Amino acid sequence: MAIEQKKAYFPLKEQIQLKAREHGFDRCYVSKPCVDQRHLQSLQNWVDMGMHAEMAWMAEELRLQRRMEPMQLLAGVQSVISVALCYKPPEYTLTAAASKPKTGVISAYAHGDDYHDVMKKRLKALALDLDLLFGKHEQRVFVDTAPVLEHALAESGGLGWQGKHSLTIHQNLGSWFLLGEIFTTADIEADLPAANHCGSCSACMTICPTQAIVAPYVVDARLCISYLTIEFDGFIPHPLRVLMGNRIYGCDDCQLICPWNGHAAKKTVLLDDLLKPRGENDLPDLAALLQLDEEAFRARFRKSPIKRTKRRGLLRNVCIAMGNAGDAQFIPCLMAVLDDEEPLIRGHAAWALGQLVDQVDRADTLAALVQMLEIEKESTVRREVELAIQHIRMSDE
Ligand code: SF4
Ligand code: SF4
Repeated sequence: MAIEQKKAYFPLKEQIQLKAREHGFDRCYVSKPCVDQRHLQSLQNWVDMGMHAEMAWMAEELRLQRRMEPMQLLAGVQSVISVALCYKPPEYTLTAAASKPKTGVISAYAHGDDYHDVMKKRLKALALDLDLLFGKHEQRVFVDTAPVLEHALAESGGLGWQGKHSLTIHQNLGSWFLLGEIFTTADIEADLPAANHCGSCSACMTICPTQAIVAPYVVDARLCISYLTIEFDGFIPHPLRVLMGNRIYGCDDCQLICPWNGHAAKKTVLLDDLLKPRGENDLPDLAALLQLDEEAFRARFRKSPIKRTKRRGLLRNVCIAMGNAGDAQFIPCLMAVLDDEEPLIRGHAAWALGQLVDQVDRADTLAALVQMLEIEKESTVRREVELAIQHIRMSDE
């Protein structure tokens, strides 16, 4: 169907931006559906070096092609509308969060409702308005899950540049926002690309607890706490566990240290009600989380992005945080999940008990682990228990 632009008082671009505002988005920019060669090369190198870890879908040929050629996602696409939806930055600082080891740190974007649901509904509503502006035409909306190089498109449309930590930074908003896109067959004038303002700064690379930013703009997912605590569904490598501290869902350290977020904090941003932080996800009590059974986990995180880890992933992370806390108070809670039905939880609980070796109850802990070994069938869990026992015995010598 031919696309007609409706006559209106405001220029077309402003009308789109106004509509985006009405639907609760904080910024809206337009780019053409082509990805800069620099971003394409970086993606290929990243995948070639295995830095996508176990996210096999990132390396699938078809999905890679779609990332590199947005045309493959919507036939006849002429423009990409990138929107930013702000969420509330954490109120704690890096040191304040770390000084409360009996609580867990959850990434700020996950303190409220699941943004995928919130944003998708709004993008669909915005797309309906675009039909009114341009006449009915083809559109597709994307929020994170589809193979879209959203940071590259946001950069070429002027929304923000990709920082050395790989997230998009807007000069006024900083990086505390989420991205979404509408691919449209409407031919809309593109905005100018965003310039990079990282300059000689490398604060995010220095602060990263696991040194996951292995080069400017390159994050090795295999080392990144965000990947490990959210996407990875296995046994976390031992050397990384001790570096995770009390981060139980994601990690905001590279954003907290970024000077552009210091600037942004002084500005007022619109805050979507649905993304408003729920107090319960702000430094939650670790002991209470470890007691969640399947039903309680589902009830508590039904509308939250945290459900993505499933109970086994979150409680695995909680066990690690307890092991890092160095607090004997956690020993009974950890003992109580040594017979959990999830191997991931049993194994990490055993590891955590081994870490609390300098605390009281050493004999009781050892006895519980030895008893566990007598009945444990899973080889990976058995290995964790054996190492924990070894660790405790060595500390006695
Ligand atoms: S999210 Fe955390 S672990 Fe990942 S790159 Fe940023 S600071 Fe490093
Ligand atoms: S901390 Fe510095 S280098 Fe890292 S993204 Fe922010 S400005 Fe860029």
